[in-house]
Amino acid sequence: MGFVRKTVRRCMDNYTFRAFCILCASLAVNLFYLIWNAVLCFVKAGLWESSQLVWFALLAAARALLLLFYLRKLKRETCFYVQSVLLGLSGIQLILLSFLVYRYNVAPVFSFWYLMVSGGYICVKLVLALTGRRKFRKRTSGGLFLRAKKYLSLAEGLFLFHLLFNRLIEYYGWTDGMLLLSNLLAGILYGAIILLLAGLLAVRAFLQMRGKCLSKIGFSVKIIRKKLNEVPCMSKIQMKNPVVEMDGDEMTRVLWQWIKEDLILPFVDLKTEYYDLGLVNRDKTDDQVTVDAANANKKYKVGVKCATITPNAQRVEEYKLKQMWKSPNGTIRRILDGTVFRAPILAKGITPYIPGWKKPIVLARHAYGDVYSGVETQVKQGNKAYLVVEDEQGGVVEKLLIHDFRESDGIVQSVHNLDKSIASFARSCFNYALDVKMPLWFATKDTISKKYDHHFKDIFAEIYDKEYKEKFAAAGIEYMYTLIDDAVARIVRSEGGILWACKNYDGDVMSDMVATAYGSLGLMTSVLVSPDGNYEFEAAHGTVTRHYYKHLKGEETSTNSVATIFAWTGALAKRGELDGTPELCAFAKKLEQATVATIESGKMTGDLIPLFHAEGIVPQKLDSRAFLKAVAARMQ
Ligand code: NAP
Ligand code: MG
Repeated sequence: MGFVRKTVRRCMDNYTFRAFCILCASLAVNLFYLIWNAVLCFVKAGLWESSQLVWFALLAAARALLLLFYLRKLKRETCFYVQSVLLGLSGIQLILLSFLVYRYNVAPVFSFWYLMVSGGYICVKLVLALTGRRKFRKRTSGGLFLRAKKYLSLAEGLFLFHLLFNRLIEYYGWTDGMLLLSNLLAGILYGAIILLLAGLLAVRAFLQMRGKCLSKIGFSVKIIRKKLNEVPCMSKIQMKNPVVEMDGDEMTRVLWQWIKEDLILPFVDLKTEYYDLGLVNRDKTDDQVTVDAANANKKYKVGVKCATITPNAQRVEEYKLKQMWKSPNGTIRRILDGTVFRAPILAKGITPYIPGWKKPIVLARHAYGDVYSGVETQVKQGNKAYLVVEDEQGGVVEKLLIHDFRESDGIVQSVHNLDKSIASFARSCFNYALDVKMPLWFATKDTISKKYDHHFKDIFAEIYDKEYKEKFAAAGIEYMYTLIDDAVARIVRSEGGILWACKNYDGDVMSDMVATAYGSLGLMTSVLVSPDGNYEFEAAHGTVTRHYYKHLKGEETSTNSVATIFAWTGALAKRGELDGTPELCAFAKKLEQATVATIESGKMTGDLIPLFHAEGIVPQKLDSRAFLKAVAARMQ
């Protein structure tokens, strides 16, 4: 009972489920009708009646099974399968019935009518049910499937007409009054429900073709739709704790809103602690908002971030900024510490540019220090630059000449890192490698940077020897240190399936290379994991500026939202895991599957079209919003 109540509550705001409920009700009435008829026939036993009895009982059992499948919300294919068995039974029943009608001389007009209408109805249903299992499913749940449903509704409507007509003939005939009355009542009831279903499915198909969201039937005004989303709805998935939501800039900010509207708010009673990390607000708050967001991420453990502009001189001019603010990602990583893991999203049909890559290459990027929190300045000719280390009292411990700028103006840069951070980076990588059972490679340029990079190498080696060597041997995986240039060459020749640990800058550059080689920047997930268990999810790409300017001009864009969708699903799944809400984890998984399945069915954004090769599927380029709608249709 609890299971049914939970399922019903969770799904009542889902349009398809409502339609299913009505179908279930109609089947239940039908079931009652069949059993009632069977009992009546049994009381008036005869050859005709006992044959009817057997078929009624068989049909009733099959329908009860279907009802059960619908109620338990098993996979649609299973329903189709049961439905086709059911319809096969109906077909056989029809043939026998017509034979009996002919043999025992029941009014020919009745048998002819019965054959024509029911035969046609059952043929349509059979074809749809059987093809629906294979072909329609392959072509996504979009237009075609829904159109099929519309025809199905038409067929149901036809069946209704047939039922009513039969009842009418019988009513004016001379058959047993009780049977007639029961037939008439059940026919009208069944018919009315089927008509309602037909109407709803037709509306669904219509709205779907117009690209509207189904759960808001009748509310086409945008503002009302928004309001509807904001009203907490008991039947949506509930969250115990909020996710820290960090909004961003340009095209990804546009996608951010759409993803929430189309893919999350209709299903989840979303709880977030919102921070606007858009450049305008960062400038307005003197970048305090970034620090607040990072601290909130520490408090709530899980955050999801939209791509943001890291201002350069041109952006300072464009946005009239007070100053050239630092990279928000750098700030957040500095506060949270930890490691960024980036893994490609694989979809059947998208082949990597490097054909030898068969498995994912996960990139672990150290997220602290180096040039991202570097100090740099311009030096005038004639000046000297030193690297000075002082003790707590201000006494000079070490003073190294960086350069004597005797010949020309120049620039200097100083970077730092912390043993503590490098050690936690190393441990994160070793743990992650053990988790996913992938060999770990770590690479720096220690031959040139004999102190800085070499220190990374030493810390990794020490921790590996002391804490992980045996665990790695037991797991059958290896840890390898090599030079960064050697690692690049080996990675290109490998078949993937490697966790590649990189220093901050190398990771930044290499993750873009790996992401692009796997298909598109839009197919790369990214998560920052800190040693004390904080998670921040984001897409690996930037704000896609070029597309944003097109969008502003009202031109159509086809921007890949997959990585941003995966940032949301990653955060929601982690929230679910930490809070013990498995339904939230299940939703996140379902959304990921729907997203990948949409691509695999041939519907994708423009960046993926040249990469997609699947036999028998012609890829279809969708604009940014239409792709999200296609995923939403699959979710329904
Ligand atoms: P980008 O936004 O990643 O875009 C570079 C190019 O890659 C795009 O012009 C586009 O190519 C393609 N691309 C990237 N993501 C795509 C997607 N989702 N769908 C389709 N195509 C995609 O990098 P950028 O232009 O160098 O940087 C733009 C802004 O983003 C900068 O202000 C930068 O600071 C910021 N940024 C932020 C982050 C972050 O917050 N994590 C990371 C990197 C950059 P086509 O134009 O050829 O279609
Ligand atoms: Mg990068």
